[in-house]
Amino acid sequence: MRAIPKKMILTAGPSRSPDDLVYVTDAVRHGWNFHHSDYIYKFEEAFAKYLGCNHALSVSAGTHALHLALVLSGIGKGDEVLIPDLTYVACSNVVHYTGAKPVFVEVDRRTWSIDVSKVEKYITKNTRVIMPVHLYGNVADMEGIARIAKKHNLIIIEDACEGLGCKLNNKMIGTLSDAAAFSFQGAKLLAIGEGGMLVTNRADWDTRARSLADHGIDFNRQFWVKEIGYMYPMSNIQAALGLARLEDIENLISRKRKIFSWYKEGLKHTAGIELNPERAELYSSYWMSSIILSPDLPISRDELRKKLRASNIDTRPFFFPISMFQLYDQKKVSNPVAYELASRGVNLPSGVMLEKSAVGYICQVIHRLLKT
Ligand SMILES: *Cc1c(COP(=O)(O)O)cnc(C)c1O
Repeated sequence: MRAIPKKMILTAGPSRSPDDLVYVTDAVRHGWNFHHSDYIYKFEEAFAKYLGCNHALSVSAGTHALHLALVLSGIGKGDEVLIPDLTYVACSNVVHYTGAKPVFVEVDRRTWSIDVSKVEKYITKNTRVIMPVHLYGNVADMEGIARIAKKHNLIIIEDACEGLGCKLNNKMIGTLSDAAAFSFQGAKLLAIGEGGMLVTNRADWDTRARSLADHGIDFNRQFWVKEIGYMYPMSNIQAALGLARLEDIENLISRKRKIFSWYKEGLKHTAGIELNPERAELYSSYWMSSIILSPDLPISRDELRKKLRASNIDTRPFFFPISMFQLYDQKKVSNPVAYELASRGVNLPSGVMLEKSAVGYICQVIHRLLKT
């Protein structure tokens, strides 16, 4: 058994990419006056090209990209938006910002997102939008969701904040919907501090989103305002960092995929756990390598996390189901799968700079703690 490492092994953390400082320094020195948006345009163009979509708009947070997407869907008071119960609170907060109501849908054990076989029972005459979330690098059943959306005339907004680089049947996540949101917050795959991207193939949505992200101004008539908007810009300096990180994206993804394969190998003889589900149609960028603990284990999830922490291994619990929070006026829901995953799921250290030897150590400690 290896000795406890001196420093805590963290769950996330960024990498450095070769051109970080070159681009950021250039933006600081020269990104003013006629050049105040040069890196913004370059980052947006490179991002759209990487995904293979028509439009990408950089914004100040993934949450803001999601909010804009909902505003573009035209929803408001009286409307309902289907979101998975097991997700980050950003999803329900943005629905709330528009005056509409989030409806918390049961999740599927295989996808950790909306359960397509059950979703229809949550649909009412007020349902307008369905928002699949790609949790921890797992991916929603986008084909099933497209079928439901078509049948019930729903708009699809993808929360792809954790899904950058994932593919489903060889198609990039973020291009399988009316619009999608990505996040570049410090723990995400492409980490620049704070920031987000709204992507869409709809030219009318992109044009309106650019105005909405800038107080609703009319770009053809200086300072003229067409509608009430928001102030959601990404700075040129952050876009410079984003461009450098994006140029290194294949390397980031391959590191994450390796980390998952090391866990898979290292935990293959550990009973009572499941890792991220693997599906033939899914190519995952494994934002977070995760385990789900079996209820038969002698140790609880929170006890395990505490002991791992004592061995200098940081972990994260899965998100709480949002329906647990007393935030909205809502009907009681019964989503047992969401509640079960939430109470038994753990995100393991998954930062892109994680070394193979550290994963080996983590696997040994987990194995020892789970043995009776
Ligand atoms: C990170 C995240 C967001 C929000 O992104 P921010 O950039 O932090 O606003 C939304 N949804 C999910 C699932 C996320 O993980």
